[in-house]
Amino acid sequence: MEKPAIAGGTPVRDTKLNYGHQYIDEADIKAVTQVLQSECLTCGPKVNELEKRLCALTGAKYAVACSNGTAALHIAAMAAGLKKGDEVITTPITFAASANCALYCEARPVFADIYSDTYNIDPKSVREKITDHTKAVVAVDYTGQAAELDELLALCHEKGIVLIEDGAHSIGTKYKGKFVGSIADMTTFSFHPVKTVTGGEGGAVLTNREDLYQKLLLYRSHGITKNQAFFEQESHGPWYHEQIDLGFNYRITDIQCALVLSQLDKLEQFSARRREIVKRYNDAFIQMPELFVQREIPESDTTRHLYILRINPELLTIDRKGFFEAMGAENICCNVHYIPVYYHPYYQKLGYRPGLCPNAEKLYQEMMSLPLYYSLTDKDVDDVIMAVKKIVTYYKK
Ligand SMILES: *Cc1c(COP(=O)(O)O)cnc(C)c1O
Repeated sequence: MEKPAIAGGTPVRDTKLNYGHQYIDEADIKAVTQVLQSECLTCGPKVNELEKRLCALTGAKYAVACSNGTAALHIAAMAAGLKKGDEVITTPITFAASANCALYCEARPVFADIYSDTYNIDPKSVREKITDHTKAVVAVDYTGQAAELDELLALCHEKGIVLIEDGAHSIGTKYKGKFVGSIADMTTFSFHPVKTVTGGEGGAVLTNREDLYQKLLLYRSHGITKNQAFFEQESHGPWYHEQIDLGFNYRITDIQCALVLSQLDKLEQFSARRREIVKRYNDAFIQMPELFVQREIPESDTTRHLYILRINPELLTIDRKGFFEAMGAENICCNVHYIPVYYHPYYQKLGYRPGLCPNAEKLYQEMMSLPLYYSLTDKDVDDVIMAVKKIVTYYKK
């Protein structure tokens, strides 16, 4: 076997640094404990409180909290009316769930290419992929930077297509002065522990449309409603409820909601620290020709979830794999976000082939995610920068 790349000498760090980590304080623990000592563990007041809070934060009219970001995408896809034969356009540079939500509805994901510098879905490529079967676009705010929402919305509404924004990375981000969550037809969030705000697990869908809101409520909970306005039969009495569609149990617990609410108290703090770290990385890397820095669009005031280090392999004697291994040897654990979705065997078996999205595939060859989270110290950040510089210097052409 080939030896892994090492830039030599003693590692920059003697303890391992992970690429992502949650931050939990006493207030979070107290909030969760209070729910455990209360009447309702699920379907209680904290769910409503979280939904109201997400509306207040973003300016969206409605929010439906659910069990995770994938469930949020699934009920959003259902609310968009996706069914067999429909097509959904999304980016390959995302977590598989952004495309899987189409497959759950027996619709077909279609991959549009990304911009080579911001790494977000390119509306020009979306336009090229639209057919008579296209029913939705799932645009990801990749790394937290808002996608070109105005262009995408105009395009989608021109064609009668629903825009679902996968905002798993972008809670706290503003686009042209408005918080994401209040802009697209539906926006989904994830509260997984590596995301900016966590509930252990958790998710939400935000929308301004009443009709979509009612569907989201239904699909979150079995397709069952207690709302008399939707009853198809005569009520049998006060206990009466009806299943009028087929939904799932995608409910979130009050325990998780309490944690998310307590975390949201710290969102500004989380966001500010993430921005500081991004700035430190950018300042360190911007002058180095061996590296590319992700382009920021002025329309997005970004709370960054991921920091992408992209190498220029033409100026280095190692490739991304070598660089990744060399970072590991410095005790800095990186990650790669993401393997293009259609590279996965499941998608290959569905007939997708490499070559669909050249910009996305090139990015995949050259990138890795550096540590980025609230509790990183300045020393940690300096260690990461030092490790990157050490490896670049060692493997420079
Ligand atoms: C995390 C993530 C999801 C899925 O969220 P879960 O809460 O883990 O189900 C979906 N899309 C993107 C882009 C994500 O990063």
